[in-house]
Amino acid sequence: MEHVLSVSEQLAVGECAVCGTDHHASIMFDLGDYAVSRCAACGLVYLSGGRSAAAERIRYQKDHFDTGYMRGFDVDEIAGEQLESTRAALACAGASLAGLPRWSPVLDIGCARGHFLNVLRCEMSERQFIGVDASRRMAEKGRAEFGLDLRGRTFETAGLPPGCFGLVTAFDVLEHVVSPAVALAKMLRLLHPRGWAVLEVPSETTVFRALARTAFLASGGRISEPLRALYHPSHLTYFTPRSLTRLLERLGAADIVVRCKEAHITRFGADRYRPLARSVIRAAVGLDRVLGTEAKLLVVFRRHSGA
Ligand SMILES: [Zn+2]
Repeated sequence: MEHVLSVSEQLAVGECAVCGTDHHASIMFDLGDYAVSRCAACGLVYLSGGRSAAAERIRYQKDHFDTGYMRGFDVDEIAGEQLESTRAALACAGASLAGLPRWSPVLDIGCARGHFLNVLRCEMSERQFIGVDASRRMAEKGRAEFGLDLRGRTFETAGLPPGCFGLVTAFDVLEHVVSPAVALAKMLRLLHPRGWAVLEVPSETTVFRALARTAFLASGGRISEPLRALYHPSHLTYFTPRSLTRLLERLGAADIVVRCKEAHITRFGADRYRPLARSVIRAAVGLDRVLGTEAKLLVVFRRHSGA
């Protein structure tokens, strides 16, 4: 049976996933039922307390397109934007879809129903496309709709051959896993020596978080909803470019480029908010653009030649 964390366990600082210790970490906010910690050594922000991988995985069994956050989004529009981001990330590293190792397969981790892989397949023929997702239901629906090789498993258990993938993508996945270091190390092992990985995660460094923190602190903790929305209980880690680069370097990644981009929620989903909130969102998005602190990090890297 899964160990359920007590409130005091959830509010304990917990280990930094980059540094592997809690020596430099302290609580940033105590929200009552959970807390958010920050490691002063590397800048990683993370939900406090120890987490169980099995317990976290249970969250992702359901079909999130029917019942969760994705409801109301145009999934094809997002898949198109992810393709645009993949091209942009590869270009930052001096690479391109056309230049990926010949015949090498492509893997999308957290593929949902495979919309992104389906869009990508139209751009890159004569390859194998594999998607893995913790939700068996979503993988099944995607297989039926697109005829893609989608596996309703974690990528650790999906029977993926190491060292052969020309491209591994993972959009909005890393922040959901209990050990991002273990997940990134596995991704690196899956890569072809000349292959690339492209990831997207929420950024810790954005005007949105600064505003939410200010509202929380200035109100003596009474205005906590923006903070709860931005430090969502299912997002376990919040990287800065520095903390993510440090972790990737430690794991043996090379040619790492981190850039920021606007989040889907504001680019495609701002209509779901009331007019006043929409105005604040527009202003924060504009300020983030000027400051170069947009709400998502887009990261590209590959294996170090000796790794
Ligand atoms: Zn740290």
